[in-house]
Amino acid sequence: MTLVIDRLSKTYANGVRALADVTLTIPPGMFGLLGPNGAGKSTLMRTIATLQPPDSGTIRFRELDVLAQPDRLREVLGYLPQEFGLYPNMPADSILDHFATLKGVVNAGERRDLVSALLQQVNLYDVRKKSVGGFSGGMKQRLGIAIALAGRPKLLIVDEPTAGLDPTERNRFLNLLADIGEDVVVILSTHIVEDVRELCSQMAIINKGQLVMQGEPERILDEVRGRIWRRTIPRAQADDYRSRYQVISAKMLAGNTVLHVYSDGDPGDGFVSMEPDLEDVYFHRLAAASGGRVPVEA
Ligand code: ADP
Repeated sequence: MTLVIDRLSKTYANGVRALADVTLTIPPGMFGLLGPNGAGKSTLMRTIATLQPPDSGTIRFRELDVLAQPDRLREVLGYLPQEFGLYPNMPADSILDHFATLKGVVNAGERRDLVSALLQQVNLYDVRKKSVGGFSGGMKQRLGIAIALAGRPKLLIVDEPTAGLDPTERNRFLNLLADIGEDVVVILSTHIVEDVRELCSQMAIINKGQLVMQGEPERILDEVRGRIWRRTIPRAQADDYRSRYQVISAKMLAGNTVLHVYSDGDPGDGFVSMEPDLEDVYFHRLAAASGGRVPVEA
């Protein structure tokens, strides 16, 4: 039940190399694909979902050669794209009923049961008769997941689902994903480190079309443990510190700047050692992949 991606490459007609020899093994459970905007996440998701062909490489899902037999993959696929349209005047239950029909649930009674179970699962049962035009972003995303689940997928791909959701909706959405069966491969692409830390048993970081690292979040933290140091400084000194230390993140806090720096040994100078979080690994790896520059300033 594993998804095996081998040396996948894709260069768009405009010359952008969106995937560069990506090799990844994705087991059942929640898999987090983390990377900044433009990293190639959507390209990878769309390629796995058989919506666009790669230039080279192979994808296998169980015994299936995905690129050679896209129709068979689609039978077991649920895909929630980054952006999708819903008929605004239709109520949620009619939309789901429509998609369940498309997925081959032709028996009306069976379909009614499925639609009502899905609406309960995504917590939209009470608003099932309301037009989706009035739904919030989070409600639309939850309906999107219900649609993706209508065909009882074995592979579920969810592309940047939490972008634009408020914290409550985001949590609700992530909890929903966490409850999807353990025998399903769920790939969650995101640029939000917290999404991965909270949910995923396995993860990968991609940047500029390349796989930067892959593994269990806990093991990935081991890589930088003991090498992350923190100090709060006046904002005006930030540039000076950047020139002297390997700064991996700089965040404003109450008018000051909280620096996290990477150092093999104690840098002194008032820095204290700290327990790393996934964001430290992420920024450290992105900085290394970008030639030492800190790509993100939060
Ligand atoms: P992400 O999902 O991580 O933000 P994408 O896969 O959307 O990344 O994009 C990867 C790179 O490929 C970006 O530089 C993007 O501008 C480019 N790109 C994406 N889709 C196309 C396309 N259809 N044509 C040309 N370039 C594209």
